[in-house]
Amino acid sequence: MALADLLHTDDDFVPTKALLVVAHPDDIDFGAAGTVATLTDNGVEVVYGLVTSGQAGEPAHLSPDELREIRQKEQTDAAAIVGVTELHWLEFPDGHLVADLELRKAISRLIRIVRPDLVITQTPVRNLDRIYAAHPDHLAAGEATVSAVYPDARNGHSFPELLDEGHEPHAVPRLWLMAGNDQNLHVDVTDAIDRKIEALLAHHSQNDARADGLPGMIREWAEANAALAGYPGRAIESFRLVNTE
Ligand SMILES: [Zn+2]
Repeated sequence: MALADLLHTDDDFVPTKALLVVAHPDDIDFGAAGTVATLTDNGVEVVYGLVTSGQAGEPAHLSPDELREIRQKEQTDAAAIVGVTELHWLEFPDGHLVADLELRKAISRLIRIVRPDLVITQTPVRNLDRIYAAHPDHLAAGEATVSAVYPDARNGHSFPELLDEGHEPHAVPRLWLMAGNDQNLHVDVTDAIDRKIEALLAHHSQNDARADGLPGMIREWAEANAALAGYPGRAIESFRLVNTE
């Protein structure tokens, strides 16, 4: 099936290069790894930007430096499973993210380097029905990324120092928000769901303790999304699509 036929939405835009920006290692894999695999299967180049390295995660007896090393390797392995080999680590402090100008500038720099026509990030809007998806770091990463897409990355006046570094402005025409309200894009990930589960299981430090139940849970989520979106029997990841043109 062609990529356009797997993107159920009113928008006829088909991306050629996508940048995902999230707060933590494993956020992409929970929210969008099926979509990433579907994109790379269809020739779309996909790049990851990780705002933190998950250095405040589990297990708690490890030091932040040890956790950083483990979690970067796990995310790199998970990325390879869904066809992604370019990862950028922004090295902000896990657990203390704020959508301030420093974070907006770092993400704007990444957008100007990667020059994607699609950015996928976390919703900046707190959904009280999905409180785990609304971790404060996720909201901050989402808010800063949306602000970087519009207006910072495209506006040469936003951060003149980026111009001095040689990073020309770049306009990203589409944003897809993970875990967002008012979802209006439903990506058919039926052929990618096994790789999404494999990618999640690559985050051993986070998921080994629940590895038995995780595959069933992920399939149930994707099938429930599909039923809700009107595609029963399929597996779906849903997003809020934003046209920024
Ligand atoms: Zn997270």
